[in-house]
Amino acid sequence: MPPDIRVRIAPSPTGPLHIGTARTALFNYLFARHVGGTFLLRLEDTDVARSTAAFERDILDGLHWLGITWDEGPGVAGLEEAGPYAPYRQMLRLDSYAAAAERLLADDAAYRCYCTPEQLEADRREREAAKLPPAYNGRCANLTPDERAAREAEGRSGALRFRVRKGVVGWNDMVRDRVEIDTANLGGDFVIVRADGTPLYHFTVVVDDAAMRVSHVIRGEDHVSNTPKHILLFEALGYEVPVFAHLPLILNPDGSKMSKRKSQTAVADYIAQGFTREALVNYFAFLGWSPGTEEDVMDLATLEQRFELDKVQKGGARFDRERLEWLNGQWIRRLGDDDLVARLLPFTEAAAAAGVIERAPVEDELTALLPLVRERLSTLASITDVVGFLWRDVRPDPAALVPKRWDRATTAEGLAAARDALGAHDPVTWEADELEPPLRALAEARGWKAGDLFMAIRMAVTGQAATPPLFDVLVALGRERTLSRLDAAIGALRAAG
Ligand code: GLU
Repeated sequence: MPPDIRVRIAPSPTGPLHIGTARTALFNYLFARHVGGTFLLRLEDTDVARSTAAFERDILDGLHWLGITWDEGPGVAGLEEAGPYAPYRQMLRLDSYAAAAERLLADDAAYRCYCTPEQLEADRREREAAKLPPAYNGRCANLTPDERAAREAEGRSGALRFRVRKGVVGWNDMVRDRVEIDTANLGGDFVIVRADGTPLYHFTVVVDDAAMRVSHVIRGEDHVSNTPKHILLFEALGYEVPVFAHLPLILNPDGSKMSKRKSQTAVADYIAQGFTREALVNYFAFLGWSPGTEEDVMDLATLEQRFELDKVQKGGARFDRERLEWLNGQWIRRLGDDDLVARLLPFTEAAAAAGVIERAPVEDELTALLPLVRERLSTLASITDVVGFLWRDVRPDPAALVPKRWDRATTAEGLAAARDALGAHDPVTWEADELEPPLRALAEARGWKAGDLFMAIRMAVTGQAATPPLFDVLVALGRERTLSRLDAAIGALRAAG
């Protein structure tokens, strides 16, 4: 591989960091790291009306949080910006687009178009009525100097349109192999600079990719239809055309297209739900790529070693949340104790603030619980699903307390007997292996199935049917709380008759 491989992620700060952008950034990063190239980040902020500083922060912070680092651009190594091709933000590069536009105009590769929005709208309707796809009809393509002067004299400032040549534009895509698109399908000559002087995406992306010496453009398949326009612009500007690689679309589990409205697409939402960076990076890497083996749990360093762009698949990649949760569980198991506790604390604190639990556990409490919860967490936030009953009151619900094969009276009787057996233990013998045998003996003596008795106790002290092993739960609750919760349940059952 030549040493001057340069790739980029070019997010538009018009929304929060999207999982598709994170995946594209990751693939660019992995490709660059694998071949020893350079990865840069450029902010495409020319859509001034929709771009915000908050979205910009969300994107940069999200990528940093994932551990995806870039070598040039805003936010490198905590700096405002770093890199030899600065600025890496399009609104600070307007001069370069203006200069490139002048060149295209001088070469007659682009021309001024004075069509009014009303004219363009009428054209669009006409084509629609004739069942033709939208395309510019070339009204201004061949104006004489006099005709142009007349329009300028009316005070009209023209947009700049790029002349689309006839024929086929093709490229050897690193993922999709040979792609050829007839320029007749591009919608005619397209606007590259609006009448008010704002340059548009197709134009700025090409000027910048050339200026920043981008050698490989790796981006989503949704850009395939843009690429011929970009290639024409690279050629018209006399620039070398980069290599293109279009990554497969990310689909819903049912194969439909993901939409921001229907699917959860913001990386921040996954972070807020307690997915780890390790699992997200691991999962994103496998959205369209695989090492070709059975391995599925891979850290970033391993991915950097193993990633190969030519192993990227063509077909859409289904986003399967269950699989992501499974992978997250795998990563939670691999985290060191202190690390895991530090990551859990914000979630228990948030749950307390939201009233999901009544008090937030302290660090040592969580550390002591790790053997009980670690294998049961699919997300960091699920800590309160697993053991939230430790930090909130349990209100006994007589109907829910009764196991399937029991009635209310038997349940009250069983819980009372269990309470006596447990009450005989002092805090010194309040250990899981001390508590279990007497309760098993009790069930046997009364002819009850141990499972029924244990379920009644579990419901009484936790309020939920699925918990970590019962006797560990009793130990975590402690003697006082266990006994008082049993008393409350017995009371509720008796009061209900
Ligand atoms: N700003 C564009 C986007 O966010 C960049 C696309 C490209 O990689 O060329 O979709």
